Amino acid sequence: MSEHSALDVLQRVFGYESFRGEQAAIIDHVVSGGDALVLMPTGGGKSLCYQIPALVRPGVGVVLSPLIALMQDQVDALTELGVRAAFLNSTQDWQRGREVEQAFLKGEIDLLYVAPERLLTDRCLDLLSRGRIALFAIDEAHCVSQWGHDFRPEYLGLSILHERWPDIPRIALTATATEFTRREIAQRLALDDAEHFVSSFDRPNIRYQIVEKQDARKQLLRLIQQDHAGDAGIVYCLSRNKVEETAEFLCAHGITALAYHAGLSATLRSQNQARFLREDSVVMVATIAFGMGIDKPDVRFVAHVDMPKSIEGYYQETGRAGRDGLAASAWLAYGLQDVVQQRRMIDESSGDEVFRRRLGQQLDAMLSLCEAIGCRRQRLLQYFGQTIEFCGNCDNCLMPPDAWDGTVAAQKLLSAVFRLMNERGQRYGAGHLIDILRGKQTPRVLEQDHASLSVFGIGQDLSEQNWRSVLRQLLAQGFLMVDHEGYGTLALTDSARKVLKGEQTLLLRREVARPAKGSAPRPK
Ligand code: ADP
Ligand code: ZN
Repeated sequence: MSEHSALDVLQRVFGYESFRGEQAAIIDHVVSGGDALVLMPTGGGKSLCYQIPALVRPGVGVVLSPLIALMQDQVDALTELGVRAAFLNSTQDWQRGREVEQAFLKGEIDLLYVAPERLLTDRCLDLLSRGRIALFAIDEAHCVSQWGHDFRPEYLGLSILHERWPDIPRIALTATATEFTRREIAQRLALDDAEHFVSSFDRPNIRYQIVEKQDARKQLLRLIQQDHAGDAGIVYCLSRNKVEETAEFLCAHGITALAYHAGLSATLRSQNQARFLREDSVVMVATIAFGMGIDKPDVRFVAHVDMPKSIEGYYQETGRAGRDGLAASAWLAYGLQDVVQQRRMIDESSGDEVFRRRLGQQLDAMLSLCEAIGCRRQRLLQYFGQTIEFCGNCDNCLMPPDAWDGTVAAQKLLSAVFRLMNERGQRYGAGHLIDILRGKQTPRVLEQDHASLSVFGIGQDLSEQNWRSVLRQLLAQGFLMVDHEGYGTLALTDSARKVLKGEQTLLLRREVARPAKGSAPRPK
């Protein structure tokens, strides 16, 4: 019976013919009172999974969401469909808040959006216990993960829902979670008995491309001019400074680029966001502060000029491309400096040992995606516990890179580090090391008498760029480490010994020159 009325609501209220993917099963489960943990990629249709049960079950559906800035839009969209929706958050005045509270108590609304910090106030908890609740929906549930890229401490308080309202069904939703994060969500939200609904994470219309960073800004410009002229896109940068610089650079080249980061005023941020949503071809240059909950179907590309910290972050951010199902690109420029910088940030982070180790593992997984020789999508999905053969729509499938036996090159480089450290007690960064290998008589080489080292000039067979690639891969694979105290100087790890002794061979990725042109098909 419930299924019938759910389908009825889908068609009558939302105007859709049929359910997609797991929607029907999820809705059925929640309507009949079960808890659910839902993993569905961006654009998969998560909202209906709680909106329809809220309409079918008696009482008000309470939706916890961190996206205060978007609540108004969500409520407006529902109101337009004739759904009685409202929100409670800090942007509204006291009077309006009172009205919503009254409407809730009288059962005059179907969906109530609340920010977690608001929910946890005594006033709100008291309000909720006086009304009739159909269900709790916890949106962006990965925010409860302390390892995650979007951690919100308020989310930790949400286990109170289970303690206070053990009989009300709860549905937690997210577009990104590994097996590990999924278990963490279930545990922290006390969703022990929840059924897990895991959809495929594949976004077949997104073309993944990871290129070696030379001059990221110029590479980005070429990508936009050649493949995405006039397209809406998002460019992610690590720092606020870089956001500003990159936006200016793009503007100077005739591209409508806007900046978005937490250092801008709230007014400017919401202005820029509104223009991005409204206009056709705006490029938003942003830190990761931008994007969660942004529902713009025709974002044609997401570019990263700095490497994200984890695959989960990367997946979440690139997932904002091509929600309409048409061809879109996810492009990342990645270089030696990214590895050095991220490793240093982990070393300097204030967390405890376990925390740092976990960050290190996340980074390693991201690095291995960047250095992958095989299909990117396969790697990506594998990280989320899903398998495919190969995709035919990523850079590595379309233009397979060479793998080459880099054992000897690695031995040369590692020996140079060893000589400097052990014979001279010195540590140097990448640039100087490569100068030594290539036998360059730079002022520094001469001044330090490094031309007399036995390793001086033993690497003339490879170009500077080749050496950077070798070095980066050795760092990525954990044979070298960055010593943060010495401003990014390099040191050997224990596993370097095996390579030096010839006990381990190394397969390295050779960068192929890829034309930017043709990297993504134009949407029809
Ligand atoms: P998510 O929150 O998972 O990113 P949304 O809930 O915003 O995705 O849904 C993405 C888009 O798909 C929306 O425009 C939504 O209206 C549409 N949609 C969802 N379910 C269906 C369906 N069963 N049939 C047709 N369109 C749907
Ligand atoms: Zn592929």
